Amino acid sequence: MSKKKISLDYSTSVLMRRLMKEGIRPYIGMVLLAVTCMAVSAGSTAMYAWLMDPIINKIFVARKAEYLWPLAVTIITTFAAKGVADYGEAVLLSRVGLRVISDMQNRLFARLMDLDVAYFHANQSGKLMSRLTNDVNAMRFAVSNALTGAGKDASSVLFLVGLMFYQDWVLSALTFFVFPLAVLPIRKLGRRMRKVTANTQEQTGLLATYLNQAIQGIRVVKAYGMEDYEKSKVRSLVESLYDLTYKAARVRSASSPIMEMLGGVAITVVIVYGGSQVISSADTDPDRAGAFFSFITALMLAYKPMKALASLNTNLQEGLAAAARCFEVIDAHAGIAERPDAAELVVREGNVRLEGVFFTYDGIKAALDGVTLDVPGGKTVALVGPSGAGKTTILNLLPRFYDVTDGRVLVDGQDAREVSLTSLRAKIALVSQEITLFDDTIRANIAYGRFGATEAEIEDAARMAAAHDFIMGLPNGYDTIVGERGLNLSGGQRQRLAIARAMLKNAPILLLDEATSALDTESERQVQFALEQLMKGRTTIVIAHRLSTVVGADLIHVMDRGRVVETGDHNALMEQGGLYARLYAMQFAEETQRAEPQGWPA
Ligand code: ADP
Repeated sequence: MSKKKISLDYSTSVLMRRLMKEGIRPYIGMVLLAVTCMAVSAGSTAMYAWLMDPIINKIFVARKAEYLWPLAVTIITTFAAKGVADYGEAVLLSRVGLRVISDMQNRLFARLMDLDVAYFHANQSGKLMSRLTNDVNAMRFAVSNALTGAGKDASSVLFLVGLMFYQDWVLSALTFFVFPLAVLPIRKLGRRMRKVTANTQEQTGLLATYLNQAIQGIRVVKAYGMEDYEKSKVRSLVESLYDLTYKAARVRSASSPIMEMLGGVAITVVIVYGGSQVISSADTDPDRAGAFFSFITALMLAYKPMKALASLNTNLQEGLAAAARCFEVIDAHAGIAERPDAAELVVREGNVRLEGVFFTYDGIKAALDGVTLDVPGGKTVALVGPSGAGKTTILNLLPRFYDVTDGRVLVDGQDAREVSLTSLRAKIALVSQEITLFDDTIRANIAYGRFGATEAEIEDAARMAAAHDFIMGLPNGYDTIVGERGLNLSGGQRQRLAIARAMLKNAPILLLDEATSALDTESERQVQFALEQLMKGRTTIVIAHRLSTVVGADLIHVMDRGRVVETGDHNALMEQGGLYARLYAMQFAEETQRAEPQGWPA
């Protein structure tokens, strides 16, 4: 396969730098303002602790009345400043955090839309959805925690510790001897946290994929009586998710008691040593009591931000694991890309040619094993052959959902890889078996891919696709909402909408994957009529399941195991008496048995 797996560096430092550069930098003004608020808030906190000194010494010990009011005003001002700063910081940080998420969501989705089909085959939908929901949220907390930690908590600690050293450096040195001991176990916890949460997000993605499948496929689940099976499968996923989340919660909780214990030890040391100092120097140094109170207040106030700083790493790792998963999507390499100098595809006759095409999905098994075939412009060419022969693969290669492993796909002599993707895809209409309708109006669904279409054009397309009458019969006509996955419409109606959509696109090349599921005779007739209208004057490659399509095709390529084994029209192939004749005979036998038209063996 042409796709290289690039291994990327998602270490903590790289992730932090990328988050700063790609996430936060556009909001640097707001961040700086928030940091200013944090500094004010941290300064006010230190101010409280400092105020304890004059409160104790001037008011309680010396009983000086002239200090009472000035101190009262200072206290109120300090609290007010802290309140305003805290508010400003919280609002600004929320705003930055939310902007970072929204930008990330937009980037992720934009990236996903540009990635090729192979990427979506390799990555389950739930996993991708969980990137845009769970992971970005986890990132937001990492970003705001990191900012708060780096800004407010760190500066509070800095101010308070400064004050402590100013008040009593011996006591401070003693206290801080204990804290470094806490760092080691906490760093270890951070590493464990990152591992556990990575698994949690993996499982969450799996669960989302699973739920999606079970809910989307509810009819199959019920038809096959698999409710209990699905329940037990989801239950085991939910249980393993519970185990992981619980483990993460335990790891997270462990950092708190470690700090708690160390805090207790520190405070005890301070009270015993400081208390004895105050008692012994009561006569020589009466101001000692104030300094001691100021010190102990600073220590108590420093406790909370220190604890937050200690658990910062654990929280951060959780967010960084999420960020790594998001960046993985953003950095994913699109195998199908346009050349910078790509020309516009020009379609004249609409001849399509595959020349010596080899293709493999997995790099092991060849899905196409040297296919050369011609589709003359304006003609209808049917691909027939047993299942797995490579028919769908041919349809996938034309709009470059995948690129050939070797050989060329030519449209009027132009290599599909050398023209711009937009111009190539604009010239190709695809009507596949799985009809995708969006939860929007009938009108929007028909005009999907041609938003500029006028009312009249949309109605014309619907008329030609034999859809106008049933649309007019719907409660709101063209404005009827289809409903998620078009559940309100019959199979034949959905097919005709898809045909109308292709009709409106009016591309010269039509790729048709005929539905295998049997419709009732009336629907079948209408769909057939709509298809005939659509195929008129276009180069059509059809994976044919209906006998009438096969017999009526200008040319038939019979495929088997990745090769074209026979080519000709119906009569010529019947005369040859090869695979086609055998398939036809099988079909004929089945039909006379059942006495009603069935599909061509796929
Ligand atoms: P047909 O349409 O004739 O039934 P396909 O073109 O779908 O056949 O498949 C050709 C071969 O490629 C089969 O062997 C099939 O298993 C394989 N194949 C099809 N799609 C994929 C895929 N997404 N990943 C891996 N193998 C695939």
